[in-house]
Amino acid sequence: MSTEQTLILVKPDGVAAGHIGDVISRLEGKGYVIAGLKVVAKATDAQLRQHYADKVTKAYFPELVDYMQSGPLVAIIAEGVNVVAAFRQIAGVTNPDEAAPGSIRGDYGRSWADGAIRNVVHSSDSPEAAKHEMQIWFPELNLNS
Ligand code: ADP
Ligand code: MG
Repeated sequence: MSTEQTLILVKPDGVAAGHIGDVISRLEGKGYVIAGLKVVAKATDAQLRQHYADKVTKAYFPELVDYMQSGPLVAIIAEGVNVVAAFRQIAGVTNPDEAAPGSIRGDYGRSWADGAIRNVVHSSDSPEAAKHEMQIWFPELNLNS
C-alpha cells in the first residue's frame, strides 16, 4: 500500500468546544504525519459549494452552509498509508447519535432540538476526494500543478 493524504476539517462546533487538540492527538497517536494545518476564520460560500458539490441540491444544504459558517474551522492534511479509510473510522459515522463510542463523533457529537447534524469533523471519503478538497482549503500549495 502507498502513502496517501486525507483532508480533515474540525468543524465550527468542534473548534468551539475545544476539540482541535484531540483531533490532532488522535492523528499523531496513530503515527500519521500532519502535512498541513490552518485556521480558516470563516469558510466562504464558494469554498463550501466546491467542498460539498454533491450536496448543493439537498434540502439541508442551506442549513449545512449556516453550520459550516457559524465560526472558525481548522483544516488539516494528514498523511500515511490507508489514512483516508482509517480516519473515517476514527471520526465515526455521519449521524453522531449512531457513531460508536470512542470515535470523535461518538464521543463529542449529538442531536440538537433544531434538527441540525453537528458532527465535529469532516474527512475525505477517498484519495481522489482528498485531492479535490485539499485544493479548496490549501490553494497556496498548488497541488493541482
Ligand atoms: P460525511 O460527513 O459523514 O461524509 P455526508 O457526506 O453524507 O457525511 O454529508 C456531509 C455533511 O452534511 C455531514 O457531515 C453533515 O454535516 C451534513 N448532513 C448530511 N446529512 C444531513 C442531513 N440529513 N441533515 C442535515 N445535515 C446533513
Ligand atoms: Mg461525505
